[in-house]
Order: sequence, then C-alpha cells, then structure tokens
Amino acid sequence: MTDVTSTAMLDRKARMRIPYEEPPERPVAERLKDFTETQLPLTPQRAIREASRCLQCPLAPCVKACPAHSDIPGALRKIEESDFLGAADIYRQTSSMSQICGRVCPHEQLCQCACVRNKTHEPVLCGALETFAADAARVHDRFFIHPGSPTGKHVAIVGSGPAGLACAEQLITQGHQVEIFESAAAPGGMLVFGIPSFKLDKSIVESMVEDLRHAGATFRLNTPIGKDLPVDHLFAEGFHAVFLGTGTSIPSGIKIPGIELRGIYAPNEFLARLNVRPEYLPSAWQGRLPIGQKAVVIGGGDTASDCLRSALRMGASEVTCLYRRTEAEMPGGIKDRELAREEGAVFHFLAQPVRFLGDTDGRVCAVECLKCELGEPDMEGRRRPIPLEGSNFTVEAETVVLALGYGPDPEIGGSIPGLEMQSNGLIRADRQNGATSRPEIFAGGDAVSGPDLVSTAMVSGRRAAQSIDLFLRTPRD
Ligand SMILES: Cc1cc2nc3c(=O)[nH]c(=O)nc-3n(C[C@H](O)[C@H](O)[C@H](O)COP(=O)(O)OP(=O)(O)OC[C@H]3O[C@@H](n4cnc5c(N)ncnc54)[C@H](O)[C@@H]3O)c2cc1C
Repeated sequence: MTDVTSTAMLDRKARMRIPYEEPPERPVAERLKDFTETQLPLTPQRAIREASRCLQCPLAPCVKACPAHSDIPGALRKIEESDFLGAADIYRQTSSMSQICGRVCPHEQLCQCACVRNKTHEPVLCGALETFAADAARVHDRFFIHPGSPTGKHVAIVGSGPAGLACAEQLITQGHQVEIFESAAAPGGMLVFGIPSFKLDKSIVESMVEDLRHAGATFRLNTPIGKDLPVDHLFAEGFHAVFLGTGTSIPSGIKIPGIELRGIYAPNEFLARLNVRPEYLPSAWQGRLPIGQKAVVIGGGDTASDCLRSALRMGASEVTCLYRRTEAEMPGGIKDRELAREEGAVFHFLAQPVRFLGDTDGRVCAVECLKCELGEPDMEGRRRPIPLEGSNFTVEAETVVLALGYGPDPEIGGSIPGLEMQSNGLIRADRQNGATSRPEIFAGGDAVSGPDLVSTAMVSGRRAAQSIDLFLRTPRD
C-alpha cells in the first residue's frame, strides 16, 4: 500500500493506486434523529490521502467546472503537503465562502464530475477536501477579512445572501465602507432560511457574518428596501453605489382545487419553521409544525430534496416526492436526491397533481394525480409532461409541500426608477460585472440569474464588487 502520510510527491501511478473511498457520512438511523450535518469531517490523515489521489492534471478540468475557477489541484497539493492553511489561502483567492461551498455545492455535477478519475466513478473528493481546509483555517483564525485603506466611499448592499455577503467582503478588502440592508431578521439569505442545517450548520454562516462585522460591515436587519425605503433614498443618505442581491424569494404556487386546505405549505415556510431559530421568524411561523405520518413533496429541485429530508427528520414514516417528469429531467443535485432516497423518501415520477382532497376538518388528506408521459422538449430543452386522461390515482398526505421553485419579488425592481428588468421580473444586469441600466446600481446572484447555486451567486457578488470598485475610483465631474 502506498504510504500517503509522507509529504514526498507521488508519481501518477502511485496516485492511481490509492483506492477510492466513499466520503464519510453519519449512518442513516443516527442522522434521521436530528438536523445535524450528514457529512462527517475528514481526518487530517484521510484528507492527505484523498488529496494524494489527485493526478495534478495540467489541464485541470475540475478548475474549469468550478464556478469560482478555484485552483483545486494547487489546493490539494498543499493538503497533500500537510499545509492545510496554505490550501485554504488558495481557495480564498477565488471564493468568499469555501467553508460553505465545500458543503453545499453539487460537486458531483461540477468539479468531481469533471475529475478525470470520475471516468471510473472514483473522483477525487474535491468538496470534502475544500471543507476540510476551510474548516481548519477557521479554527486557526476567527477573522480572515482584512479591510483595505479607507477610500471614504460607502456602498449599500441590499440582501445578505451569498451574493450580498461576497460583494461586501470584496468591497471591504478594497477599502470601502459597506452597510448591508436585509429584510429578514437574520443575515444569510437562503444559507440560513432555505438550506437546512443537515447540509450546512448555521454556525458557519454566523462565523462569516461575524468576520464581516469585525472587518467593519454593518447590518440593518428587518429593513426591506423598496416602496417604504427606496433605493434612491440610500443615495440621499450618502451612499455612493448600491448592490442588489435580493435573490428569488417568492415561492411558485399551483392553481388546483383544494389548495386552500390546511396542511399545504410553501417550502420557505416549511423549511424555515423546521430549521431556523423561531426568533428570526414572523410570529405566524413560530408555532410547532405538525407533519403527521404521511408527507408529500411536489417538485424536483434542491428544495424538494431538502423538504423530503426535513419531513423524514420530523418523524414522518411515508414521505413521497411527486414529480411530473422522469428522474433524468430533475433539476436538483443528484447527491441530495440520493441521500433523500437512502433516508427513506420514495420518488414517484411522471405524476401530475390535479386536486388536493381534504377531510371534514378542512385539512389535506390526499393528493389526486394523473399519470404523465413525456412529449416534445420545451423551450429549455426538457421534455414536456403530458397528463394521461383517466389515469387518476391518489397518494395519502397529512402534509403537502409545494417545492415548485422560486421567483423574484417584483417590489424591489418596480420601486427603482430607470432600472431595467427582464420580462420574468428578474433584474437586467451584465452577468460579468453586475452593471445595470443605472450606472451607480449593480446587481447579482439569483435576482439576476434566477434560482441557481450558492457558488454562482457568490461569484457574481465578487465580480460586481470589482466593477463597483472601478466605478468608485473613476473620477467624475
Ligand atoms: C431550499 C433551498 C436549498 C438550496 N440548496 C442549495 C444547495 O444545496 N447548493 C447550492 O449551491 N444552492 C442551493 N440553493 C440555492 C442557493 O441557496 C441560492 O442560489 C443562493 O442562496 C442565492 O444567493 P443570493 O444571494 O442571490 O440570494 P438569497 O440567498 O436568496 O439572498 C437574498 C437576500 O435578500 C434579501 N432581500 C430580498 N429582497 C430584499 C429587499 N427588498 N430589501 C432587503 N433585503 C431583501 C432576502 O431576505 C435574502 O436574505 C438552495 C436554495 C433553496 C431555496
């Protein structure tokens, strides 16, 4: 067996000989009892061994596949040399949140998918290694963000999700003063209010926020920007530029009979009530959420997987996902879906809900569906589901969650004169630099791209910060 505890560089053959091992995870029976992270940390020895499996490919397809284009081979080489802090430094050059991305990125569809060792389904575990290095660095140093020389410029950031936080981090390092306006009672956006704790412990987001505060960022929570506090008011307050990272927070609905029944939830309410501290929630969401034994989740994205896994942790014994296409068309992360399945969720494909049935108390008790077949591809290239007349069947449900996707809140765009919007209500902005139709307003993240990933939102926040910096440093009359 190759000795991978030595720091001597291995040749390609020796690296190939190090066998693949599944990433460490808590056993199903144990993890279903709580909302603690599923993924277990790598030990230093396991991390060195795993990093030594990297073939250090000159073309590094993993780097291309990473939305942040992080120098993954460079970081893995540092881990291999036991220089864990050096590895974290490499990730930090391109990522503002590698502790978070290491945990929540769909690596199996990005860097690990591109890894040449994935040809035999034995990719290097880039995600677990990023988490390992970033966690080691956070234990070593509580604060990473070092403010640049003060420029005297003030930037208002609207929204504290990955896009807003990454933009803030970069602007601080460039010497600008940032204030983050957030409509919710806690910062973090979907990192806190969407993604459940079994994927991302909230303390990790809290450390990043603490780091930003320590570096001088201020947060104005419970402060929605829009009709009552318009963006132009922020300029009147003295801000020199504004970044909009308002995400897509409005859950899509479904117009079918029975939708008014009790026990049918939007995913933001469902996930927040199970995963977020009650003091951060509106009072209507603070009570216990009765799930019952049978839960149905409608939809096929990351949100659906998270709702399925949350329902299982609440003790539901029959948890079913209804999706109107087949698994091949499902948009969510494959790994999350596998974990949901492993934990007991049942997937029912080609099923189109047409009616919710209620009991005498006005509570949902079943979902009536039609079977579907797939037709021609739609505008996005996904084959369209065609419901089959007369194929009705029902699935019992005491709780239903509508995980049908999210759209933008029209208020922010509608309240800014001269800000061009896309026809679907998203903000129109240059994807490369965040520029909008108003020179002093920049935008990024899901509010521009539509629902996407933490890493893509983070990257767009960083890119926008570069152009805000340029804008602020350019002399004007
Ligand atoms: C349930 C769920 C699970 C997910 N799982 C994953 C995953 O595993 N991996 C992954 O990569 N991605 C995942 N995503 C997607 C990811 O969370 C988002 O793509 C990402 O958070 C988008 O970042 P953002 O900063 O653009 O927006 P958000 O995170 O949505 O943050 C926007 C912030 O702006 C605030 N805001 C909105 N309007 C205003 C206003 N007018 N004034 C002030 N503040 C305002 C909101 O309150 C929010 O805090 C998931 C999403 C959901 C919903």
